[in-house]
Amino acid sequence: MAKRDYYEVLGVSKTAKLDEIKKAYRKLAIANHPDRNPGDKEAEERFKEATEAYDVISDEKKRQMYDQFGFAGLDGSNGGAHDYSNVYRDFSDIFGGGFGGGGGGFEDIFSSFFGGGGSRSQGRGGQRGPEPGASLRYDVEIDFKDAVFGSKVDVAYSHQVGCDVCSGSGSQGGSGTKVCPTCNGSGQVRRNSGFFAVASTCPTCNGSGRVIENPCTECHGSGLKRKQQKVKVTIPAGVDNGSRVVLRGMGDAGANGGPSGDLYVYVNVKNHKYFVRQDYDLFCQVPISITQASLGAEIQVPTIDGQSIKVAIPAGVQSGKMLRVRGRGVTKLNSTDRGDMYLKLLVQVPKRMNSKAKKIMQDLAEALGEETSPTPVPFED
Ligand SMILES: [Zn+2]
Ligand SMILES: [Zn+2]
Repeated sequence: MAKRDYYEVLGVSKTAKLDEIKKAYRKLAIANHPDRNPGDKEAEERFKEATEAYDVISDEKKRQMYDQFGFAGLDGSNGGAHDYSNVYRDFSDIFGGGFGGGGGGFEDIFSSFFGGGGSRSQGRGGQRGPEPGASLRYDVEIDFKDAVFGSKVDVAYSHQVGCDVCSGSGSQGGSGTKVCPTCNGSGQVRRNSGFFAVASTCPTCNGSGRVIENPCTECHGSGLKRKQQKVKVTIPAGVDNGSRVVLRGMGDAGANGGPSGDLYVYVNVKNHKYFVRQDYDLFCQVPISITQASLGAEIQVPTIDGQSIKVAIPAGVQSGKMLRVRGRGVTKLNSTDRGDMYLKLLVQVPKRMNSKAKKIMQDLAEALGEETSPTPVPFED
């Protein structure tokens, strides 16, 4: 048989883009895959032919050579001498999971291509490859202080776990699988539609060719069931809004021996009445009096720890001045170090004074050589 033109094999034009080429190859590969057509020599030939054509046409360099020089432009390894019987393992990018191992990727693409169900929860497929479980998200809201020092939170959620009745196998009493009675193991059913026979994925086994002999009555053959779960999650000191804690393997269980997903606990931190946080530093406003600002003072300031510390106010300090108190901020993640606390001093002018205070103020103004012309407070607030 004369070698057919690669474009003709794939059924695409000479100007076809990679997307189109991939699609065309996938169609051919699925229809003619050896696993799908056991013992069918013609299908196997078509599969090899399509794979060889795809190998060349999907590769920019090889394609250019082929376009210019035909088969002669390709070196020995691409000229047809190469054995393509195993090459389908290398086309994983097209088929997602690839054909290797349990053939999960193939099953998936096969199902989606033919519009089959393919959902593992239907639990009919006995021979499907391992599928990883889904990862789950859980949101918690914690107090400001708990983010600063860390805490433990209760998380209650539901996830899929392996069925304890059948140990996740989906079958009763370890009965295992048998050849699917609907498709006799081929994974496909043919329906006569006038002149043509139309093939589609077997609905009983989802194309796997096998079904569970005696499905477990607890999980109906899926091997999985939902379970309410309660866990205490340690929120480390230093977390902030949007931080997440990952609990490996606490998501949904995988199917057919696939790994479990993870549980992501997202942290949302409530605001504090006095403190505002920036990274690991805390900021708060501290009102001081005009005399404290003028003469200097030692004041008591509350910290996030719930303690009270002494802070020295230097004489002559201006309103808006920031003072830093080291090590009184937020505990840093995975560390015992702490950020700092910043105090913004706000000088308060007295709204009312008794006559003695007024007299002293007037004397002060005189001593400083300042003009004052006291008038009654124009408005009350
Ligand atoms: Zn079947
Ligand atoms: Zn079960």
